[in-house]
Amino acid sequence: MEDCIFCKIARGEIGKLVYEDEAVAAFDDLNPQAPVHVLIVPKKHIARLCDVATDEDACLVGDIMRVANKIAADRGIADEGYRVVVNCNEGAGQSVWHVHFHLLGGRKLGWPPG
Ligand code: 5GP
Ligand code: ZN
Repeated sequence: MEDCIFCKIARGEIGKLVYEDEAVAAFDDLNPQAPVHVLIVPKKHIARLCDVATDEDACLVGDIMRVANKIAADRGIADEGYRVVVNCNEGAGQSVWHVHFHLLGGRKLGWPPG
């Protein structure tokens, strides 16, 4: 995926990673909606959450959740509470077509989300 911005960030070509392992990368959101707003992505290009279909991809989602827990703990928001959100498709607000998990915290989060 030559032109995918999150592929480029995940490869370390632009921006700054706050977490990286073999399969997963994380970076701060450009336009944060909370004191902690980190985007966690698979290094493999998967466009949308609904494209997660194989056992391998499902494992990747589990890995991403584990990374979210780790970053939440590292940023000191684990006990107070945090949220992990994926917007899938335009109607849900997806605007970048490389699946990403928003980790949000550091303030009281309202429910239901808008
Ligand atoms: P979505 O609307 O697809 O769920 O979320 C896309 C998120 O990516 C938004 O929160 C937006 O601020 C963030 N974003 C878009 N482009 C960039 C970028 O180039 N760098 C970073 N760090 N975040 C980005
Ligand atoms: Zn990509």
